[in-house]
Amino acid sequence: FTEWRPYFHHVVAHVDGKYAPIPFNLNTIEDLFPRRMAEAMTQALIDTYGYGAKVPILRMREEGAEQLRYLADYIYKKVFENYTFKQWSLKPEELNPSVSARVPIHISRDNRYFQDVYQAMPVDGYSAMFARILAHENISVATSTEFEAVRGLYPGARIVFTGPIDEYFRFEHGALPYRSLRFRLFERPEAEAQPVGTVNYPNEFDFTRITEFKHLTGQKADGTILIEEYPEAYVPGRNEPYYPVPTEDTAAALVPYQDMANTLKGKIWFAGRLGDYAYYNMDQACGRALALFEKQLAVA
Ligand code: UDP
Repeated sequence: FTEWRPYFHHVVAHVDGKYAPIPFNLNTIEDLFPRRMAEAMTQALIDTYGYGAKVPILRMREEGAEQLRYLADYIYKKVFENYTFKQWSLKPEELNPSVSARVPIHISRDNRYFQDVYQAMPVDGYSAMFARILAHENISVATSTEFEAVRGLYPGARIVFTGPIDEYFRFEHGALPYRSLRFRLFERPEAEAQPVGTVNYPNEFDFTRITEFKHLTGQKADGTILIEEYPEAYVPGRNEPYYPVPTEDTAAALVPYQDMANTLKGKIWFAGRLGDYAYYNMDQACGRALALFEKQLAVA
């Protein structure tokens, strides 16, 4: 369906007036602290966790050796606390620890956002890739169509539902919360507006980050296109649900829906961020789809 373009995503955060690599790593320390201090912190991190380790901020704050306490509090305050509050309207410790652990402190000098062996972008973009996937005689697509409007049309059909699981069950056990985003797309006349694909602004502005697409696509052009991300609550009918909200409360509220889903086994399958109410990355969402097909649909 597509050729691939090798791409390693890079992120910097604007902290104390400087732009420094995220995930927070040994280079970030060097960029933000005086040399002697940076050397001492680096040595302490390597002694405590070992070179190459990935340490979630909430863990570092709790068990960090005394000399790392200052650093852990600094990273929490300057990188995680305000960004997380903008993104979720919650504090990092109110969310499942896996959320802030998605971006652990990396005891290394690897500035890449991800360390997966295979990292790439579709050469012609995702739209072209999906257009090719969907161009099959057995596939028809209906956009701007509510599931409610078609749910009765295919009695006996096997259905994979990737919308919000609470919506499928008509909110019988209450509505689950989702976070949404408002995107502001804008153009700049210069060839390049920022040094890497994404710049995070944990402590300033109402948006969390700005992404400049030509870094991801490899496009050459005189101008450049960027997007600001403004997090907001999901309001049905007004915006789109993008993220489940992983907390203790939502984990409990999800259980009755999962029980209902289990009673439909063999007829309806739920998948994706919204269907599973799980904070999947794109590779995990694809892995989930493949496993669902191979282990369940293909044998059902
Ligand atoms: N996060 C943060 N500061 C950052 C980057 C991430 O506080 O500079 C936290 C924040 O809570 C965010 C989470 O880590 O929601 C996961 O970040 P990721 O970049 O994976 O978010 P996504 O790309 O899925 O929106």
